[in-house]
Amino acid sequence: AALDETSETSDALRVLHRVFGYGSFRGAQQEIIDHVVAGGDALVLMPTGGGKSLCYQIPALVRDGVGVVISPLIALMQDQVDALTALGVRAGFLNSTQDMDERRSVEAAFLSGELDLLYLAPERLRSEATLRLLDRGTISLFAIDEAHCVAQWGHDFRPDYLMLSALHERWPKVPRIALTATATEATHGEIASRLNLKDARHFVASFDRPNIQYRIAPKDDPKKQLLELLRTEHPGDAGVVYCLSRASVEKTAEFLVGKGIDAVPYHAGLDSRVRAANQSRFLREDGVVVVATIAFGMGIDKPDVRFVAHLDLPKSVEGYYQETGRAGRDGLPSTAWLAYGLQDVVQQRKMIETSEGDEAHRRRLGTHLEAMLALCETVECRRVRLLAYFGQQSTACGNCDTCLTPPESWDGTIPAQKLLSTVLRLERERHQKFGAGQIIDILLGKKTAKVIQFDHDTLSVFGIGTELGVSGWRGVVRQLLAQGLLAVEGDYGTLVLTDASAEVLGRKREVLLRREPEKAVRAEKSAKS
Ligand code: ADP
Ligand code: ZN
Repeated sequence: AALDETSETSDALRVLHRVFGYGSFRGAQQEIIDHVVAGGDALVLMPTGGGKSLCYQIPALVRDGVGVVISPLIALMQDQVDALTALGVRAGFLNSTQDMDERRSVEAAFLSGELDLLYLAPERLRSEATLRLLDRGTISLFAIDEAHCVAQWGHDFRPDYLMLSALHERWPKVPRIALTATATEATHGEIASRLNLKDARHFVASFDRPNIQYRIAPKDDPKKQLLELLRTEHPGDAGVVYCLSRASVEKTAEFLVGKGIDAVPYHAGLDSRVRAANQSRFLREDGVVVVATIAFGMGIDKPDVRFVAHLDLPKSVEGYYQETGRAGRDGLPSTAWLAYGLQDVVQQRKMIETSEGDEAHRRRLGTHLEAMLALCETVECRRVRLLAYFGQQSTACGNCDTCLTPPESWDGTIPAQKLLSTVLRLERERHQKFGAGQIIDILLGKKTAKVIQFDHDTLSVFGIGTELGVSGWRGVVRQLLAQGLLAVEGDYGTLVLTDASAEVLGRKREVLLRREPEKAVRAEKSAKS
């Protein structure tokens, strides 16, 4: 796919104008492209929407041979190839969805140099036949898209990605460019070492998405809260609503449709035709809201997504950043809204405890969750915390909930002591463990059947916490969990003390808590009464 020009830079620029119809490069695109065109390896960390695709597509068009793109997004290969074909770029793909004839014709095009780009699913490289095919053609570069899939530390690990280090051994002269929108220091280092990219130049773009307004609200009635957000701030807008389970995806979509919102569900359990139709409506029509599990979205390029809402807590800050990053690719103001509550913490702890894998794996999941909780409970600018997580310094943004309505903090030392000493009393009983509900009933002095059954009304802590209501106490529990002053374990969300709890109980440590917005507190109270 070589063009007959002398200067590489002007080749690249010419392709940008003529093929893609864009006036100028964005951010570091030009530098990256020049580096790869010249035969260098690159590791590109750029947020979603930053323009990663051109960084390998243009070098593939400028350099001699076919650019081989490894991508885990099999469902999107057809779309990517169609989009390139529409621009006059000769592209094809090889994956498991094709029949023999289709595969043969793509292979023939590859061998005769009639392709500029060949998209490959990573598992294709497991087959010796594919490797021999690649040997027989001319490869201009390898692009490894979604490169974080190689990182076991990350949240999208794909075992087949581990084989990609073999590319360099087999084709040492072919430049490689690895791209990802995920970039904690840990993932970053793991990508470089696992893909054998130690000599690659690293290009790290800013991860700030200034047009996205980050907001995290306490969860009381999440569907109602969501509806209010859509009606007051995003009527008729396209958006994505993420839920943890397939069941809640369906319930939420039904609820929204019942309220007159043009919503469609999307999850891996739906019939593939329904799923494709829903995705296509979202992409091609205006103002469709897709309610989805996180199966939806990797590689989805819709510029005018005006909001991303999470009804359940994401498992990691990386996941949160990627999912919210699907909003506002066109640069216009967009909302990232998350509702989060105590139940999320209990549920995710339980999922971690019962997850497959070894202890180290569970510990990693726990670390991810804690970082996510810290972001939820921060009184600092959300963006500052988010960028700091990716190793980038910044100052208060003025465009997140904590900047716009700074949360008050209050001295929660005494309530924290009351709560922790209740947990301590119950822990001493040993034979039975209790969750937040029972502990709060004890603090409030409620003689429920379960309180009486276990004689908890005779404890010295019974009824010592009437200064707060149920939701106030749930907020305290949640924040103590986020601060590591309390932990939760087992199937029933049993609350247990941590090493740090002792400092609070021993009056060696003060506890600052975030004041919950009045509205949420009131809403929960009236729902309970
Ligand atoms: P990423 O893969 O980093 O999420 P894409 O490569 O899909 O991002 O690019 C995001 C959007 O920005 C696409 O619609 C793309 O066509 C557009 N884009 C990329 N580079 C440029 C540029 N230099 N000028 C204008 N638009 C661009
Ligand atoms: Zn801010």
